[in-house]
Amino acid sequence: MDLDVLIVGAGLAGGSLACALAASPLRIGVLDARPPRRAEGWDARVYAVSPANVAFLEQIRAWPHLDHGRINRVEAMQVFGDRGGETRFSAYDAGLDALAWILEASPLALELWETLRRQPNITVLCPARPSALSIDADAATLRLEDGRSIRARLLVAADGADSWVRTAANLAVRTTAYDELGVVANFQCEKPHRDTAFQWFRDDGILAWLPLPENRISIVWSTPTSHAESLLEMPPEAFVARVAGAGESRLGAMTLLTPPAGFPLRLMQVPQVVAPRVALIGDAAHAIHPLSGHGINLGFQDARVLAEQLCELPAHRDCGDLAVLRRYARARNEEVRLMQGVTHALNRLFRPRNPILAALRNQGMHLTNRLPVVRSAMVRYAAGLI
Ligand SMILES: Cc1cc2nc3c(=O)[nH]c(=O)nc-3n(C[C@H](O)[C@H](O)[C@H](O)COP(=O)(O)OP(=O)(O)OC[C@H]3O[C@@H](n4cnc5c(N)ncnc54)[C@H](O)[C@@H]3O)c2cc1C
Repeated sequence: MDLDVLIVGAGLAGGSLACALAASPLRIGVLDARPPRRAEGWDARVYAVSPANVAFLEQIRAWPHLDHGRINRVEAMQVFGDRGGETRFSAYDAGLDALAWILEASPLALELWETLRRQPNITVLCPARPSALSIDADAATLRLEDGRSIRARLLVAADGADSWVRTAANLAVRTTAYDELGVVANFQCEKPHRDTAFQWFRDDGILAWLPLPENRISIVWSTPTSHAESLLEMPPEAFVARVAGAGESRLGAMTLLTPPAGFPLRLMQVPQVVAPRVALIGDAAHAIHPLSGHGINLGFQDARVLAEQLCELPAHRDCGDLAVLRRYARARNEEVRLMQGVTHALNRLFRPRNPILAALRNQGMHLTNRLPVVRSAMVRYAAGLI
């Protein structure tokens, strides 16, 4: 099979890239080991999607088809330090409709999947797994485990943090394990969250409460592995009491809606995200601590930028040409490095129990809170609007 672009991985990064290329004359292939599945009830994997990425999802026609009764806007955010520090962010103060939108991962993945399956220029190969990669002057050839072989002028790795394609293409990765798990679960709360997200920098990790419709919340507790394991092993009532207590019972009594699950957290830096006929996007190109909620937001921007650049190419230009791919790598480099650097630094800053550092970081939060211009600039940058 001969294609222009073959995307390995139909997660949110790969799926959104395929949808963004649907209107182009390119012949696209999308390959995944398995189709996305709808979670039972409410999905505990939820994402805070920035306004810039809501605009991208609108552009690729995914946003209007989502069930908006399951999406919650974030109008305000309150961040608490471990020694009384506090900073508040507000969409209104920054002149935005919302700081972010909280949505479940699986309905969006399914929407992208159904959209790309309807496109005449997109071939879907699923279930399928690659087994060997060879690259020559004209194309990348991917052999699949079932014996099929596909040639494409450009191979896009959207196969997640443990990317098979990245390894097969010999692209190096620097991994920093945090020895932490992100513990996620959904809750029904007694009191209204008023579209506010809460985040606590605590001695035992970073706890985020993200608002969902009808007084539900989704939590991400990034916490050392030993503590995370004890949380995951607790009886449900004890887990609920621990989460409510860690959040100062701000939303009254809480009921558990989904069993807690834990995800290992790591920083993955990939110095070169392109090689001849290969480009990396999403977590294959950069994994990041979830404390800033930026992982898939970076992935969506990778997809948007790469799609825009491929769509702008004149018909005679080879889409897998390294010069073309280097433009994509340059365009994404700054934001990815900055977000990874800031997120990693925040994680490190709030870890040590040294009382001098604790006083400094909490003072820093108070100071930020007294500088509305700085807060507004931070919000607009995080929203992807600067
Ligand atoms: C606890 C936690 C909370 C998070 N919260 C947020 C948040 O609030 N906001 C945010 O922006 N990000 C968040 N993230 C990050 C986000 O989850 C990731 O950035 C995102 O899932 C990456 O998407 P992706 O499409 O790049 O990769 P993936 O979601 O990993 O998708 C990879 C796809 O490739 C397929 N695949 C993999 N290997 C193969 C293979 N060999 N053959 C065939 N197919 C293959 C898989 O089946 C899958 O469909 C969070 C992460 C964690 C752990």
